[in-house]
Amino acid sequence: MKPAPFDYHAPATLDEAVALLTRLEDEGCDMKIIAGGQSLMPMLALRVARPEALVDLRRLDTLNYIRDDAGTLAIGAMTSKQAAADSALVKRAQPLFHAATELVGHRQIRNRGSVGGSFAHADPASEYPAVALVLDTEFEAVGPDGARTIPADEFFVTYMTTSLETTEVLTAVRFAPFAPQRRWAIQEFARRNGDLALAGVALTLNVDGGLCRDVRIAAFGVEATAVRLTAAEQLLEGQPAQAAQFEQAGKAGAAQLDDPMSCIHASSAYRRHLIGVLTTRALGEAAARTH
Ligand SMILES: Cc1cc2nc3c(=O)[nH]c(=O)nc-3n(C[C@H](O)[C@H](O)[C@H](O)COP(=O)(O)OP(=O)(O)OC[C@H]3O[C@@H](n4cnc5c(N)ncnc54)[C@H](O)[C@@H]3O)c2cc1C
Repeated sequence: MKPAPFDYHAPATLDEAVALLTRLEDEGCDMKIIAGGQSLMPMLALRVARPEALVDLRRLDTLNYIRDDAGTLAIGAMTSKQAAADSALVKRAQPLFHAATELVGHRQIRNRGSVGGSFAHADPASEYPAVALVLDTEFEAVGPDGARTIPADEFFVTYMTTSLETTEVLTAVRFAPFAPQRRWAIQEFARRNGDLALAGVALTLNVDGGLCRDVRIAAFGVEATAVRLTAAEQLLEGQPAQAAQFEQAGKAGAAQLDDPMSCIHASSAYRRHLIGVLTTRALGEAAARTH
């Protein structure tokens, strides 16, 4: 199937993009930003989305960068995921985000797909929202009222929905410094390499004198948006970093889920089971990590 007809705009600057989005909104036009098109184009082709206008960000070179801002890793929204995967700075400064990026799709998708596009798309099966929830992540957006910063726990609202306004452009993602002693892991289950995960878990923790501290665990692929497994986190706080505790935490995390998604590929019960297994596995992997 081919997309329904739409007007196409490719503004040259961020100011132009915001002005255009604002004008189209005022005119009652149903418009969509397009970045790498790796999610939006299939949706257009299937006519799941039928916007009247597309605003393409591809000319906004100012949103294509990876830099160290006094210890904070800043990545421009139009930076490709492959550029992030290839970046020694990203790997050193934010190893969990780097590992998650390598799990996204295939190289062709990472080449075209932008970092900002993945966060803005907010697919519940994506690794990125879960990673954002366990790292200290902020999003920068620019709209008609200027720039604003949105913390990760206010950014993801529900299924494929963020707190961005339709007239706002996500311009960057910023990760606060990741302490070198902090442990991390990401585990997911997909039917084929490169597919979106059926379920997955991203986590960070400290192991201090053999005890778990400041545990943060987020599950993806199970609910309308990535979700923190607070029951597992609380159960582990101050407990020995050992297999028996990790197994209990996996069970607590799985039990906490309200109503995991169900589809032809995986039932709700199977997804819940996966989260338990993947949580236990990821905790073991993180605890065994040497720096
Ligand atoms: C075969 C296949 C496998 C995939 N596997 C994975 C996977 O394993 N994990 C994963 O996370 N993803 C996966 N994806 C999805 C893909 O990686 C991302 O969703 C995609 O790259 C999004 O980035 P994009 O630049 O292509 O965004 P687009 O498709 O252009 O846009 C996606 C959405 O974000 C909005 N948007 C984009 N940029 C901005 C911005 N700067 N400001 C405001 N809104 C914006 C658009 O309006 C649109 O609603 C897969 C895709 C395919 C086709």
